[in-house]
Amino acid sequence: MLQSTDLLHTLVDGLGSPLNLVLPEQIVASVERFRAVYRRHHLSGGIFFAHKANRSSALVRQLAATEAGIEVASLAELQHALGAGFTPDRITATGPKNPEFLWLAARAGAIVNVDSRAELLELVALVGRHGLPRVRVMLRLSAFEAPGVTVLSRPSRFGTPVAEVAGLLEAVERHGDAVELIGVSYHLDTIGLAEKAVALEACVKVMDECRRRGLRPRAIDIGGGFGVDYLADEGQWQRYTSELGNAVLGRRPALTWQGHGYGLRAEAGTLRGTLGLYPAHRPVAAADYLDELLSLPAPSLGRPLATLLLENLYDLHIEPGRALVDQCGVTLAKVLQVRHTSSGECLVRVEGNAGDIGLEARGVLMDPIVVPRTGGRPGPTEPVGVYLVGNLCLEADLITRRMVHLPGAPAPGDLLAFANTAGYAMDFDADHAQQQPIARKVAAYQANGTWRWRLDPQYWPNVPTGEAQ
Ligand SMILES: *Cc1c(COP(=O)(O)O)cnc(C)c1O
Repeated sequence: MLQSTDLLHTLVDGLGSPLNLVLPEQIVASVERFRAVYRRHHLSGGIFFAHKANRSSALVRQLAATEAGIEVASLAELQHALGAGFTPDRITATGPKNPEFLWLAARAGAIVNVDSRAELLELVALVGRHGLPRVRVMLRLSAFEAPGVTVLSRPSRFGTPVAEVAGLLEAVERHGDAVELIGVSYHLDTIGLAEKAVALEACVKVMDECRRRGLRPRAIDIGGGFGVDYLADEGQWQRYTSELGNAVLGRRPALTWQGHGYGLRAEAGTLRGTLGLYPAHRPVAAADYLDELLSLPAPSLGRPLATLLLENLYDLHIEPGRALVDQCGVTLAKVLQVRHTSSGECLVRVEGNAGDIGLEARGVLMDPIVVPRTGGRPGPTEPVGVYLVGNLCLEADLITRRMVHLPGAPAPGDLLAFANTAGYAMDFDADHAQQQPIARKVAAYQANGTWRWRLDPQYWPNVPTGEAQ
């Protein structure tokens, strides 16, 4: 897509900068990669896309045309999923819920991932009051304790602490006419495999307890957090992060705007703090990460986690967000001005801001790709280090606080293409600050060897075949 220079410029000229491109066909391939891991471990269960990673209708509709499900965490996300063609049995509702969200989830018959005992009782009351059919529920758990060894378990504001599960199960038993327990779940905001192995084994044990009580749960939902490998070159990543430390210590010229340390700071000549960046080089990410987790031995029972699931005939549900939209989108921004500060820094100002290009907010460092306006200007010459600044009248509106090295100085009219933004970096933080427009979205796909596109709201999975003759 990025080689279709004319098309990219035509799109931005016509639809404005910034502009988001999504590639719905890619998400189909992502689902298949996760499914292949299930097959390898002889497991079944649902792959639920965590909708919050991207608001695109095209991606959600394309997903509805696959076997995947969707995880929704707000009333509007649930409405969007239903409207895109997901039947309620393929929808799981999680997160903080208001009464309207809970009602629609229950009324439609989605799976409700219950966050607490209070929420369970609220759901039970709602089912009774409106005479609704029994709602399938999963119980979200948290605060898992590692047996013996100390595996750091981060506190979470979500889920019921596993130590309090007895009270929760009593409530489920007491209200069996309103809710049907189909399993237990967790979502841990961590990349630590050991922590997740502890949680998964703990879930298997809670499932055993459920069965002892005569309940018949059948699935464990292990949430998301499978991650993305953003950078191909491990050496570059290691070198950059260690040089960043040197720059913070003043041992080399600054690599960042006004010496920003991304969480690192110098104290009496020593490096302190922790690097607050996404670990952008992750050789084991996405489906491979799931594969690795399932292959790990259960911390106390010893057998591989996949074997534990298989022995019990439990379904495995997953909720990948970022990993499922890996390589599903790119954000384009037009260069408006290139100038030098009095201290010699090169500022490249683009039509777009840090909310539109959310990589920095998520701690993901990737250089943009320059897409020159074709014709006229000679090609790139000298490599140059620049700071990318946005269109807000705000000192802090830097697209990235680190110096970005480009193969040549860009010129006004060129486009910068920020790769792989579909996971949280496209529309999560976009807003109307200063009444600047929010980027439009375009869904691009190939038909008869050429790229076609639709505005995101106009894309439906049947469109490409309709054009194929
Ligand atoms: C955010 C979230 C996910 C997805 O997390 P990723 O890191 O994007 O995979 C899954 N489940 C729940 C409950 C979430 O809140």
